[in-house]
Order: sequence, then structure tokens, then C-alpha cells
Amino acid sequence: MAAQETVDHKYVYDFSEGNKDLKDLLGGKGANLAEMTNLGLPVPPGFTITTEACQAYLATGREPDGLAGQIEAHLESLERAMGKRLGDPQDPLLVSVRSGAKFSMPGMMETVLNVGLNDQSVVGLSAQAGQNDRFAWDSYRRLIQMFGKTVCEVPGEEFEHALDEIKNAKRTHNDLDLDADDLRGLVDAYKKIFLKHTGREFPQQPREQLDLAIRAVFESWNAERAVLYRRQERIPADLGTAVNVVTMVFGNLGPDSGTGVAFTRDPASGAQGIYGDYLANAQGEDVVAGIRNTVPLQELEQLDKASYDELLGIMARLEEHYKDLCDIEFTIERGKLWMLQTRVGKRTAAAAFVIAGQLVDEGLIDLDEALHRVNGAQLAQLMFPRFQLDHEFQPVAKGIGASPGAASGAVVFTSARAVELAAEGKSVILVRRETNPDDLNGMIAAQGILTSRGGKTSHAAVVARGMGKTCVSGADEIEVNVPAKRFVVAGQTVNEGDVVSIDGTTGKVYLGEVPVMPSEVVQYFEGSLDPEHIDNALVRAVHRIMTHADGRRRLAVRTNADTGADAARARRFGAEGIGLCRTEHMFLGDRRELVERLILARDADEREAALEALLPLQRADFVEIFREMDGLPVTVRLIDPPLHEFLPPLEQLAVNVAVAQERGEDVAKEEALLAAVRRMHEENPMLGLRGVRLGLVIPGLFAMQVRAIAEAAVACAREGRVAKPEIMVPLVGAVQELETVRAEAERIIAEVVGDSGVEVLIGTMIEVPRAALTAGQIAEAAEFFSFGTNDLTQMGWGFSRDDVEGAFFWRYLELGIFGISPFESIDRDGVGRLVRIASEEGRAARPGLKLGVCGEHGGDPDSVHFFHEVGLDYVSCSPFRVPVARLEAGRAVVETGGSDSR
Ligand code: PEP
Ligand code: MG
Repeated sequence: MAAQETVDHKYVYDFSEGNKDLKDLLGGKGANLAEMTNLGLPVPPGFTITTEACQAYLATGREPDGLAGQIEAHLESLERAMGKRLGDPQDPLLVSVRSGAKFSMPGMMETVLNVGLNDQSVVGLSAQAGQNDRFAWDSYRRLIQMFGKTVCEVPGEEFEHALDEIKNAKRTHNDLDLDADDLRGLVDAYKKIFLKHTGREFPQQPREQLDLAIRAVFESWNAERAVLYRRQERIPADLGTAVNVVTMVFGNLGPDSGTGVAFTRDPASGAQGIYGDYLANAQGEDVVAGIRNTVPLQELEQLDKASYDELLGIMARLEEHYKDLCDIEFTIERGKLWMLQTRVGKRTAAAAFVIAGQLVDEGLIDLDEALHRVNGAQLAQLMFPRFQLDHEFQPVAKGIGASPGAASGAVVFTSARAVELAAEGKSVILVRRETNPDDLNGMIAAQGILTSRGGKTSHAAVVARGMGKTCVSGADEIEVNVPAKRFVVAGQTVNEGDVVSIDGTTGKVYLGEVPVMPSEVVQYFEGSLDPEHIDNALVRAVHRIMTHADGRRRLAVRTNADTGADAARARRFGAEGIGLCRTEHMFLGDRRELVERLILARDADEREAALEALLPLQRADFVEIFREMDGLPVTVRLIDPPLHEFLPPLEQLAVNVAVAQERGEDVAKEEALLAAVRRMHEENPMLGLRGVRLGLVIPGLFAMQVRAIAEAAVACAREGRVAKPEIMVPLVGAVQELETVRAEAERIIAEVVGDSGVEVLIGTMIEVPRAALTAGQIAEAAEFFSFGTNDLTQMGWGFSRDDVEGAFFWRYLELGIFGISPFESIDRDGVGRLVRIASEEGRAARPGLKLGVCGEHGGDPDSVHFFHEVGLDYVSCSPFRVPVARLEAGRAVVETGGSDSR
């Protein structure tokens, strides 16, 4: 039965049999050629061999049963339709054999043109082309060259040399100066090269050419560059490519022929109009190779008005049909227009928003669809400062935009030098061939990182993204010479100390300092640009789509903020409360000394005195934040990290004490401090005395904080404001911990709030796996849960969050153990499962339990969708990511087909 199924399986689709929704099977190019064929547009006839055939070939190393017969049948019907036979000596049908995967992989796989030409049919082709011998022999030599390189791995340079030799002999640089005899001679030379490298004559059988070309396209799926590209772009490795066999049409048959590419709108800005290039008397690969200069598409109107008008009509039709920006490739063969390709076009982040807005205005899509068409990563890109580029600045190299942003600074080649110059207040760009964990300090000190090797998952890229630092990786035009402290690019030498500018979005590298422009989108979010009154298409589109997202989303969006200033900014960005105020940050700076007193207290009196001194300071912190968040909930987390973080480092202290002792100074105080630091030293501080454990060990510490929170709320109430504090206990693993803290907190709150009307909720973080697994019990003592997915990831995976990203994540990404750092985007299957279990069991125990997330994942687009699915009430993220989370929370609703609105 299985064998029968294999034989009957359909591996080949005529263009008239497919449609645009069959990309999985027919690849992007094949599906869209089918769609255009069915729209009645002028597509050269052809057929598509499916990705399944490719998968079968790659799995077994041979064509699947039935494929050869199906190709034969489709070829015959193509020949009937065209009234020509493949390779016919008098009137040959020629075909191109083109790759086309589900996702576009530009230039990564193979194409063979002019299949069907041989020593006889080249003569027929010439006759067909009006006794155009030159054209026919040129087509033939292109076939041998492409076939040789692609199918038989003949080194491409050999063909290039032979071509150069003929051109040199004719004293010309231009291919067009070669006549038919020259090209006939070139065919002979190419055939000899072919024979030398393959040990066989160039195949004269058209069907053999076709079969070998198809096989070569299948195999090109696994070419090294294609594998690398997929890894970088996160394209699954098992999709395979489809193969399109398309009747050849020629743009190089004279001045009434040509070829071009076009966009239906500007893919850079989204502006409406016609954007494209045209090259008369040329084939597609001439445009790509840049042999001759193209002209703007508008000039086609003068050259061939009929084709131009037809093309514009088709472009309008395609936009209306696809309801989106399309990019197209076309050829004109002796005044007849042919469409060779279309697809929904790639665009910049700005164009994505602008075009989505325009399409709504034009009635082509609704606002839900507009929201679906943009994403948080694009919005985040629009929030980075950009270079203000004018003609003065030309890039000297282009690498991979590995971590967005715009950075300028003095070039340094070592981590140590980066740290040194940064300490002097200088902006530096760390330039390395590639980075490794030893470069970490330099990367922290630098404004940006530039490497000449490595892709989007290289060490430099991963670590820079983690730090939010601008990075360009893999700029292979630069030759880095670390010992000589210089790099060479485009013939210029850049020495240590010279200034360069790098654009982490485009991957471009500039010499000198390029001025930086603030983002208009940020200005809009900050309230300094009014979308109703400025003539800025981008800002208006962002405003409109954000407003719609806000109307659609179910998740509320809060912010992580520890200061009044951060709270105020986040509120302008649309935060609907604070989901995490980390109070440990309030114990730094000049308050360190008070903390030292607390830790070193010899008895209850000394401890209480220190706490008493801290109380008014804490209260003032909370008043400032509650004022900014008037009317909105504020989750204040009781102090979390280990106390030794507030004390001087052990080694330094030990040295100081020893030196002072040597000098005979009074070191009693320092000795006490040293003893305390020694006492508190932990091998694994992240798993040690932190969070609730600290609160249970140091009497009065949590009590002081609870009192400060309650008193601040009451003070705000007296000012006529509404403070809504939510006290959050960190690192809880057992309900008993929470119950103990809760009992004391409730007593203090009752004492402080009296009849002020202030209500204080008490809840917990869920960030220890045990808490997630006993959430049902913990919910009995908690009015809310907030998932601390940073610690939950750390403890779920057993990954030290401070160490692993720089140490080995690059390797894990390279090996595909995960596609993205689990600290960046929630690991749905593992850590996400803990979140799901805790949500379900928590709500089962306490219906109405408020659920949120305040780990870094709260601002990550994909994670926001996950939290929506799980049914959390809110996500909380850093102020800058609030708009991203708002947008993604809206997208999560429209993408799950929900009619949820708030
Ligand atoms: C967390 O663990 O996710 C969290 C928000 O707390 P912190 O990052 O402060 O440990
Ligand atoms: Mg935590």
C-alpha cells in the first residue's frame, strides 16, 4: 500500500494547478507563478516540482518513484502548449530550471538557464531569433557556464578567464563587443573546460540536461552557504526547495527587449509610486551582476509605452489581489511583456507601518490585518536612534546587523584598551576578528562592537544583543590586525584611536563620526510629536496602529521601574502600572553606609537604629513613585539580592585590613566588616541568602519596608492621590514562607492605613520551580502571582544567569539546541510549562487570582503571545519595551482569532 501511494504521489504541478497558498509544497516562487497564471497574467508556461520531491531526494539520494514519469508528462504538455519541443534542432523549446523554497533565500541556491540548447538547437534558436547568431551562441555559452558550475562543480573562474581572454584579444571590456564568431569560439573553449573537469563531453541530450539541472537544484538546498543562511535566518533545515521549470523568454533579443525589477511602493519608506529599474537588451542575471547600469523604470514609458502601461496595470492588479506591497521581476521579449516572478515584498520597519496604514485607507485591509502585518521587533527598531546620513557618509563595509542601534567611537582592538579608554569617558568601538568570553569586559565598556567574522548567532552578536549594545558582525571586508592595532578596509588603514561609526540595524560601517538622530517614534511616545498635527506618515501610522492594538488587547502592560523618573517615562509610553519595583536598588549609593550598619549590628538596638534611619528614605522613594503612578497599581518587591552585594569585595577588604594593620592603624571597624563579609560569603549567592530568606533571617527588615510602603500610600492619599500598592515577596518556594511574612505585614498595614481608604495587596513572585509546582497551596496566601521568569529560567534550566550567555550560549545556538536564548524568549516547553501549571493551579485554588510576569520576557514579542495564551492579566517590562508589549498584546488577540477587547 505504501509503495502504491509513493508511485501515485503527485510531485509535479502545472502552473495552472497551484495557487499562492501552496508555498509549503510549491515554494514561494512556484506558488506565486501559479497565482499569476490563474489571474490570467502573462506568465511563461511551466511547472513546479514540489518540495516533497526534494525532501525525498535528499533523504534517499535518488529521485522518488514516479517523478521522472510526471516530469515527462508535464514536459509533453508544455511542448504541446508552446508548439515546440525541448531541444528541437529547428525550433527548440528552452527552459530555465530555478530553485524556490518556501522562504526566500536570495542567491543561496541554484538556477540553470537555457536548458535545451546543444550543438544543433543553437542553430534553430538563431533562426527563431531572426538569424541572430550572436544571441544564440551567447545563450549557449551561458548554459555551459551555468550548467558546468552548478551541476558539475566546474570552478567558475575558469569560465571567467576564458571570457576575459577573448575580451582581451578583442581589446574590449564589454561583452556586447563580442560577435557571433567570438562566442562560437567561447563555446568551444567552455566545452574544453567542461571536459577537462568532468572527464565527459557537455551533455547534448536536452532531457539529460534537464534532469541533472533539477537534481543540482535539489542538492543546492544543502550547499554550505544555504545551510549557513538558514541557520542565521532560523529557516527550518528540512523544508527543501521546489524546482520551477519555466519556458525561457529573452530580454536580450534587441532594443525592443529588456528586463527589470519593480516594487509597487517604496520598500524603504512605504511611499506610494513606482519604484524599479529597467535594463534594455539584457537578461536578469545582467542586472544582478551590475554589468551595465539600469535606468529608472519610469523611462520604460518612452522606450515601450504599451509594455509600460500593461506593467502598471498588472502592478495595480497584483497589489489589489495580494493586498500588499509586491515586488516583481519581468522581461520584455520583442515588445511582449512577461511576468517572471512576484512576491509580497520585503520592506523596512518604517515602510511596514506606513504601508499597513495606507492599505487601510485604501480599503484593502482592515485594522486587525494592519496590526497583524507589523510587529514588535519592527517597532523596537524604530525606537533606536539612527544615523543622520547625508552624501558625505558612504559605508566602507557592510556586515550583519547583529544588534540594532547606532554607535560611534574610537577604535580599540583589545578588551583591556576598551576598558581603559571608557574609564577616561571616551566612547569606543571594540573591533575584533571575532569575540570570545575574554572580551566581555571590553564589550561592556564599548559603545559598539564590530567583528569581521561570524553571523547573527556568533558570540559577539548574542552577547551584544543581551546587553542591548550595538553590534555589526561578520564585516568580512575589514582585515583586522590586532597586534598592529589597526584594520584595513577598502584600501584605507584605520588605527587605534581613529573614529568609526557602526549601524547595528543595517550592518553598515562608516569612517568618522556620523551624527545621531533621535527616533521620531520615541518623540511621539514621549508626547512631543502630535500625530494629528504633523506631516509625518510614519508617526501617524504608528499612532493609528498602536491605538488599535490598545483597543484589542486583553493583557494589560505594566513597567519595571525603580525611580519616579522611570515610572513617569513608562507612563508616557503607555504603562498601566508598575509590575516590578526592585527595592534593592534603593539601598545603593550613599545609603550603603546605612546598610553596612544594619549588617554589622551587634544587637537589636543597633539593628533597629539602622532600620529607623532607612525608613524615611524608603518612604520618600515610594511617595515619589506612587505620585507618578497616581491611580495605577504599583507592585513593590521586598528586598531580594544577597546582602553581601552591598559590602566591599572580600579580597579588597582583606588587603586593606592587612595594610592598615602593618602600619599599626586602628582597624577595628574594618576587621568587623571583614569578618561579616567572610561570614556572608556564599559559593552560590543566587541560590543563597536572598529574597524571602533574607526577610526571615534579619528581623525588622521586611517590616521596615512594609511600613514605608503603607505610610507612603497614606501620605499620597492625604494629597488626594490614589496609591495602589501591591507588596510582593521574592523567591518564595513554600507557602509557609509567605504566610510568615504575610502575618507580620498584615499587622503593620492595619496599624498604618487605619481609615485612610488605602488598600494594600500582598502577593508573591513565582520564580522558584517549587513555587510553580505548589502554586495551589501558595495561592491560599497570595492575592497575586508575578512570574519571575529570569530566575525561573535560571533554576528551571540550571543556567547561572550571570555567566552562561557569554560562556557558551553561542555554541548552543550554533548547534541548534535552542534557536534563541531562553533568557530572551520564554522556553515554552519547559519554563513556560511551569508558568502554565502555576497559573492553572493558582487560579483553581483562588479564582480571580491576579497573574502577571515581570521577568525580561515580559517585553519579548513571542513571549507576550505566550502569556496571552496562558491567560495572564498583565506583562511588565522595562519602559522602552512598553510600546512593544502593547503592540504584541494586541497582535496576540488578532492572531488567535479572538474577539477579545478590553
Ligand atoms: C525574575 O527573576 O524574573 C525577576 C523579575 O527578578 P530579578 O530579575 O530581580 O531576579
Ligand atoms: Mg528574580
